[in-house]
Amino acid sequence: PYDVLVVGGGPAGASAAIYAARKGIRTGVVAERFGGQVLDTMSIENFISVSSTEGPKLAASLEEHVKDYDIDVMNLQRASSLEKNDGMFELGLDNGGVLKSKSVIISTGARWRQVGVPGEEEFKNKGVAYCPHCDGPLFEGKDVAVIGGGNSGIEAAIDLAGIVKHVTVLEFASELKADQVLQERANSLPNITIHTNAQTTEITGDANVNGITYVDRETGQENHVKLEGVFVQIGLVPNTEWLDESIERNQIGEIVVDKRNATSIPGLFAAGDVTDVPYNQIIISMGTGANAALGAFDYLIRN
Ligand code: FAD
Repeated sequence: PYDVLVVGGGPAGASAAIYAARKGIRTGVVAERFGGQVLDTMSIENFISVSSTEGPKLAASLEEHVKDYDIDVMNLQRASSLEKNDGMFELGLDNGGVLKSKSVIISTGARWRQVGVPGEEEFKNKGVAYCPHCDGPLFEGKDVAVIGGGNSGIEAAIDLAGIVKHVTVLEFASELKADQVLQERANSLPNITIHTNAQTTEITGDANVNGITYVDRETGQENHVKLEGVFVQIGLVPNTEWLDESIERNQIGEIVVDKRNATSIPGLFAAGDVTDVPYNQIIISMGTGANAALGAFDYLIRN
């Protein structure tokens, strides 16, 4: 059996695996797609100490760094179940295999919920963005839209308002769901316009995004706004569907962890976007992955 088995090969999983292997313990990584969300990212400018890089490049260096160690990397393998029997974890794979380990670190990440309108897929990384912390500065001085009027949408609008020229917020429901203080702050900013009852129907563009079309659900009128960026902020879904109910999760399905990234089950740790850590970033995922591995090592030497 493994001492530490990491499920997920994004920044959190890679970091956890390296930290575990450096303790000289038997370490494995199972990943559906090694690299994770980083593979889908164009430019990365906030990975501290690297001024600017590209997702696939960072993913390749993650893999290279992991390969420096004696780590079993099982790429293109999807985990489908996790059980603990007699103090030993059993990870079931889609291919029917079962891996055993004394401790497990879940780092299966998350995915942005998509609006599913024409243009979203086509203009991804060409004006359609999901992460204001990451991509906001790329739209400096330009007009953008934010789809979604919940906390993340209104926070994104306030954040972007300090960088871009103008922000149009489109919320499908008849009122914003964001906290009152955020709504007040957004309303006080001259370069934010909020439309409720606004159903986004298309993101338009040629080589890059050039506008957004929405229908006013009260009047049925179709409107088109010219702009260069669209931030989709309608939720981040943690990849926890494959886990059973025994592991404590919050309302939106994220795994609840403590300061050592331990979950509600002894010997089971979690790191990165799959957890209830408030901010989802590469550097934070790596930090929590390291923390989880050290937590797992601590667990192993005590059990
Ligand atoms: P992920 O990167 O999501 O990795 C999850 C891993 O788990 C993958 O290997 C996946 O294949 C695997 N997995 C999932 N389910 C299973 C399963 N059942 N069995 C086995 N394996 C599984 N952050 C920044 O800091 N800067 C940026 O500029 C930036 N830009 C971004 C741009 C885009 C378009 C996106 C989508 C995200 C961006 N982010 C950025 C956020 C950053 O990518 C994430 O915070 C980070 O990748 C999270 O790392 P993670 O390891 O927790 O999860």
